[in-house]
Formats: sequence, structure tokens, C-alpha cells
Amino acid sequence: MKQVTVLGATGSVGVSTLDVISRSPDRFKVFALTANQSIARLEKQILQHHPLYAVVQDEQVAALLRASLKGARVNTKILSGAKALAQVASDDAVDYVMAAIVGAAGLLPTLAAAQSGKRVLLANKEALVMSGDLFMRTVMENNAELLPIDSEHNAIFQCLPRTYFSDPENSGIKKIILTGSGGPFRLASLSSLKTVTPEQACAHPNWNMGKKISVDSATMMNKGLELIEACYLFSLDPRLIDIVIHPQSIIHSMAQYIDGSVVAQLGNPDMRTPIAHALAWPERIESGVADLDMIVQARLDFEAPDYQRFPCLKLAQDAIRLGGAASVTLNAANEIAVAAFLSSDLAFTQIAQTIAYVQDNLSINTVDTVDQIIDADNKARDVAHEYIQQIASEKS
Ligand code: NAD
Ligand code: MG
Repeated sequence: MKQVTVLGATGSVGVSTLDVISRSPDRFKVFALTANQSIARLEKQILQHHPLYAVVQDEQVAALLRASLKGARVNTKILSGAKALAQVASDDAVDYVMAAIVGAAGLLPTLAAAQSGKRVLLANKEALVMSGDLFMRTVMENNAELLPIDSEHNAIFQCLPRTYFSDPENSGIKKIILTGSGGPFRLASLSSLKTVTPEQACAHPNWNMGKKISVDSATMMNKGLELIEACYLFSLDPRLIDIVIHPQSIIHSMAQYIDGSVVAQLGNPDMRTPIAHALAWPERIESGVADLDMIVQARLDFEAPDYQRFPCLKLAQDAIRLGGAASVTLNAANEIAVAAFLSSDLAFTQIAQTIAYVQDNLSINTVDTVDQIIDADNKARDVAHEYIQQIASEKS
């Protein structure tokens, strides 16, 4: 029986994780659930899964939850704050940690899970983008297991030979082909992008996801973050990773071997597949995902990404090539810009402009420690805020 902590349990990946877990009650037991604000959903999850702990950000929210659970037949301890989050990610009793908090907020608990040698199921790509080398080193030094949940990286993991991680040079791998749908604006006119709404940006054609990653998919910053994620997860130079637009999201990514073979992983676009894969690895379990019907699907299309339409993709490529703090500041500026777009304080096309401004106006070299990473992240957020305020004042 594996004890599982789900960080970000109330989000899109968190909910899918609990769905998969509930299909294998003989294998998995929920140890802790964490959430930010969605307490009604968290309460329902507590009543269903009876975790030992539930953690929310804010003590006031925790008090509300405790009051609401009074009289219910559960012994869940309700905690709050960053320390509690790290504690439930590293508790001795925990085997697996699903890292499904969105954004930089997930960095410390995800690192805590790696430090304490857990199987880390990594959905929270921002944590890896921010801490790259440090994160991978932490995993190695503490004998943690790192299994990718991001559908592309989970696909690549499945397509690579087992020998890849012990001897990549002799594994026969030539390059990786990372696929992306191109999001809701793949065919929109370039002039219309200035005025698209958050609602339009969040209406992804194939996936049902949280708002932040949905906007990232619309700008293709998501693919940029995934490029960086792939470089770290698979120790690859970015030049060995091709990005291909595949609008149907059926091929989740591919590995090209030196003999010309291309191995792909296919399936319906449903996160329960990579989640079930990583939870059960190296075994397989039921996920609840419908079989892929090739006849109904019928077509698989591919095209090259258009950098004029998706400048964020270029910004991410520049950041990983530059190294140092560039990925940290890219991610932080993106988080601020996406939040401003979602609250209608920034136009869609200004997301890339904000990030470019931050990258051009901030030079930080060393990010070797967690403190330096958090410092670079904070500085980039400040510069992004300044730029957005500047835009607002020019408008009024
Ligand atoms: P979501 O917005 O639906 O859920 C985010 C979760 O994190 C929620 O439980 C929320 O309560 C929690 N959270 C948010 N801010 C927090 C904070 N400051 N402190 C603590 N908890 C906080 O997001 P999602 O779509 O489930 O994505 C989660 C992560 O997984 C992201 O990093 C995303 O890039 C990655 N991911 C998601 C998908 C998908 O299909 N949704 C696919 C691949 C990767
Ligand atoms: Mg993905």
C-alpha cells in the first residue's frame, strides 16, 4: 500500500489524480491533500479519502474548514502555511508525492519531497524550470524517483529505452520530438490576438486544464517551459529537442533513434493516463481513460511552429540557451503577465512583451541555491509589475 500526498489536490491534475487513486484502493492510500482556496472541493475530497492531513495556505481558511468538518466522521488534521506543506511532502510515512500545485508556489514542497527521497510525480513544471540543476541534483543525492506527469514528458519517458538513464550516450537516441497542439489561436488572424479575452484563451481545443496553463498553451509558453523541463529531465541539449505542432493532441511526444525509428506514445488527451503510468510504474493500472478510436480520430496532422504568432516560444528557447537565472526570470515574468492578462490588466500580446522587457532589463547570474532562485524570482516579478504599471499609466 503506497501512501500518497497530493499537493494541489483541488486543481485539474489533483482531481484527476484522486480519480485514478480511487480506482486502485488496494494500492494507494491518501496521506495528505493540499489546496489554496477551494475549500468546498477540499472538504468533499477529505470526506471521500480520509487523509491524515489536509493543508491550506491560510490559517483563517483552515479555521473555516475545521469548523465545517466538526461532527463529520473524519480524523483529518487541518494545517496551514508553507511549513505544513513541506511537512506533508516529506513525512516519513509518505511514499509518493504528486506535485500538482501551479507555479512557483510549488517549488519548496516539491523540493522537500525530493530531499526526503520520495517518488515525485512531477506535474508542477514551473518548479523544475526554476530550479533545474539543483532539483535534479537533489533527486540524485537523495535517491528520490522522478516521474514526469506532463503528458509530453511522460510520453518521452515511455518512448526512451530503459538504458537511457544509466547510459544515454549508448542508448541509440538521436533526438526528442516534443509535440504541442498550438492552442486555441493556432489559426486566428495575427491582428485579432491583441483583443482576445481570457475566456477565449482558456478554451483549449483538446485539454481541460487550470487557467494559468491554459493561457500558457495559448501563447505556447507552455511548450517553451516544457522544452526547458525536457532538457533537465532527460539531460538534453535544447538543440536535440524538436518542437512540432500536432493539433489533435493524440501523439503526446516521440523519441527518434539513430537507426531511423521514431517511437511515439499515443492516447486520448486525458491526464489520467500519465498519472496512472507514474503511480504504478513499472506496472500498469486502469486509469478510466477511454480507448483511443483510430477510425474516429482518423487524422494526425503536423506543422512547424510560427514564431511570429508564438513569440513566447522563442523567449523560452533563448532562456534555456542563456542558462543561469534566465529560466527563473522567464517563468516569474510569465506568471505575473498571465495573471495580469487573466484579470484584464494586460492584452494577450503584451504577455510576451512583458517577459521580453524583464529578460532585457534584469541581469542576474548565479542561482545555485534555493535562496538565490527565490531572490531572482522576486526581482523578476517586481520588474514585470513595473512594466505592467507603466503600460497601464500610458493607457490612461
Ligand atoms: P489548477 O489551477 O487547476 O490547480 C492548481 C492547484 O494548486 C490547486 O489545487 C490550487 O489550490 C493549488 N494552488 C494554487 N496556488 C497555490 C499556492 N499559492 N499555494 C498552494 N497551493 C496553490 O492547475 P492544474 O491545471 O491542475 O496544473 C497544476 C500543475 O500541473 C501546473 O504546474 C501545470 O503546468 C501542470 N500541468 C497541468 C496539466 C493539466 O492538464 N491541467 C498538464 C500538464 C501539466
Ligand atoms: Mg504538457
